[in-house]
Amino acid sequence: MHLTPQKIKNYYEKAFLHFEKNIKMPEIEIIFYPYVNVNNRIKSRNNKVSVRISELLADAPIAVHKALAQILVAKLIGKKVPVKSKKIYKEYLDDENFQDIAIAHKRKNGRKILTSPKGEFFDLEKIFGKLNLVYFQNKIAKPSLSWSQRKTYRRLGHHDPVHDAIIISRSLDDKSVPKYVVEYVVYHEMLHIKHPAKNQNGRRCVHTSIFKRDEEKFAYYEEADRWIEENALKIKRKVKRAKRK
Ligand SMILES: [Zn+2]
Repeated sequence: MHLTPQKIKNYYEKAFLHFEKNIKMPEIEIIFYPYVNVNNRIKSRNNKVSVRISELLADAPIAVHKALAQILVAKLIGKKVPVKSKKIYKEYLDDENFQDIAIAHKRKNGRKILTSPKGEFFDLEKIFGKLNLVYFQNKIAKPSLSWSQRKTYRRLGHHDPVHDAIIISRSLDDKSVPKYVVEYVVYHEMLHIKHPAKNQNGRRCVHTSIFKRDEEKFAYYEEADRWIEENALKIKRKVKRAKRK
């Protein structure tokens, strides 16, 4: 869920008050700006403060926006940045999911990219094309497709609706992985495009019953599910071993 600039403005007002209790509150303007990299600017002129926040942070959690507000306001008025805020912000940027989002964003903007949909063993574009034809009558508009930067094992794939990107864990780009498993993971993420998340009784529902019914239409549904179940632990061990090297 996107935070509105109005909501984010509150965090900046609170940050000003945090540093100077009796401050005359300036007018604050918040803009999301399409910087290619994570870049945020704050400027003050005639008691008007303008903040430009990188679009890449549009989906960042509240805590991250609060931390960023403290960082930028501290810089603007020459105060020491609170250690805790620095830590929250840095950890978010270092998170591998965020890094994948940043890469997808760059690709979409036509910048030089670090990863390609073509892996060592599997080509995500080919897999996407085939699945789109067989299961979706070619109706899914092609998102940005990429392998994750690191070999993650907790999440084998994810769809990022903000940047219209499907990212598949590099741990699956391996000769020991059957093709139908990679296809199944891509298929699952394509279903997220076909069935966007819904709010049901105030809760965000991602895997609705229609979603699940469609998921079972995959020709190797049971085999793929079983393979993942049986190999999840193996992948995890392999990734951990590789990380130790
Ligand atoms: Zn899912």
